[in-house]
Amino acid sequence: MKIMTNRLDRGFYKYQSEFEAKALEVLRSGWYILGKEVAAFEEEFAAYTGAKYCAGLASGLDALSLGVRVLDIGKGDEVLVQGNTYIASVMGITMNGATPVFIEPDEYHQIDVTKLEAAITDKTKAIMVVHLYGEAAKMDDVVALCKKYNLKLIEDCAQSHGACYDGKMTGTFGDIGCFSFYPSKNLGAFGDGGAIVTDNEEILKKIKMLRNYGSDVRYYFREVGLNSRLDEMQAGLLRVRLSHIGELTKEREEIAKRYLDGINNPLIDLPKERDGATCVWHQFVIRCKTRDNLIKYLNDKEISTIIHYPIPPHLSECYENLGHKKGDYPITEQFADEVLSIPMYNGITKEEQDYVIEALNAYKG
Ligand SMILES: *Cc1c(COP(=O)(O)O)cnc(C)c1O
Repeated sequence: MKIMTNRLDRGFYKYQSEFEAKALEVLRSGWYILGKEVAAFEEEFAAYTGAKYCAGLASGLDALSLGVRVLDIGKGDEVLVQGNTYIASVMGITMNGATPVFIEPDEYHQIDVTKLEAAITDKTKAIMVVHLYGEAAKMDDVVALCKKYNLKLIEDCAQSHGACYDGKMTGTFGDIGCFSFYPSKNLGAFGDGGAIVTDNEEILKKIKMLRNYGSDVRYYFREVGLNSRLDEMQAGLLRVRLSHIGELTKEREEIAKRYLDGINNPLIDLPKERDGATCVWHQFVIRCKTRDNLIKYLNDKEISTIIHYPIPPHLSECYENLGHKKGDYPITEQFADEVLSIPMYNGITKEEQDYVIEALNAYKG
């Protein structure tokens, strides 16, 4: 049985008639940028997260870099961020001239809150929390530290649409929550898209101005901004997907439960869920000491897997200038060597899940 790491087609066909009707509606509307679909999506997505406001943007990276920018974080400032994140979190920081300070992950693959305080200096301006793989980080401790040291809090929720900590949705704990709607995300568009959510009206206004060349009144430019607008087509299609997000998340939870109950191999570590945190299972990430061998073994059985992420940002070529070397962040590096994401997506059949479970259980190292 051939099993791919993702099948976006299945996510489309599940609601085919609704997507097609919305696409036609947008095509026939004659209005394609910053119109009623974007406004409606912003309202609906803010309501879904529990934030007051939302601004649609062109990507998750733009959400992160604009988020850092509107908090006035730049050259000479430090931002604490977990070491095992996707490169875009770090780029959001460095694009503004600020310096990322990497924090090791805990056993849940999230930022290790016990290591935050020691990393705070008089240059530290913010903590960027990434709710990696869909699992909420330990936000009570993060929020307490931000209060104690007067730090800004940015959440990278590109993988955590709908994940909660103590019943509160990720993205609403700090100043700004940043989302991506890249097609494979839990709330995926049919192209690129992103958004920020915030309770702060000033931040909202500034982001809306910056996404549109720095203009809030037509042809009056207050700042050098960028073109980072969510378009009407993506916003319309996202509204369709958002109307089903509850059942889509529930389906991922059921797949994860089958994996957690079914996979039983001492060579494989399963992901753990923290008390008080919910996971929306953007990825199902196992760990294995003989990971590269496991990949080959699964490949022979036609099961594709993917590594999130093989090279941690501090060892990425693009960050050579930061001067880090192998061994600087041993847990981050260990995870990069051991993690493996197995097929997890809306529309994977029970038969396919069972085939993955059986293969993993039969792995002998
Ligand atoms: C996908 C992702 C991003 C970037 O989102 P884009 O829309 O692709 O720019 C940022 N951070 C994390 C953790 C992501 O997974």
